Amino acid sequence: MAESTCVKCGHTSFEMAEAAISGLRFKRDFLQCGRCGGVVGVIESDNLNARLDAIEERLKVLAGAPDARSSVSRNFTPGPKHTA
Ligand SMILES: [Zn+2]
Repeated sequence: MAESTCVKCGHTSFEMAEAAISGLRFKRDFLQCGRCGGVVGVIESDNLNARLDAIEERLKVLAGAPDARSSVSRNFTPGPKHTA
């Protein structure tokens, strides 16, 4: 596999740097060159997964889980097996 390099200076190691970007509500992490700081990628910052988990939990509550989940499992219990 080819070695990843900074397009600006050719360096081969990178680092993350948190950045607040004008006009954006949430901070981002820049993936940047470890030598010159040239930005090579932008990643959603830190708490995104935690926020998604919190949203999922709220959706479960709004959907009526865990009661809904248990009724679903009751509804999907297999019926009598067909015999040939
Ligand atoms: Zn560089």
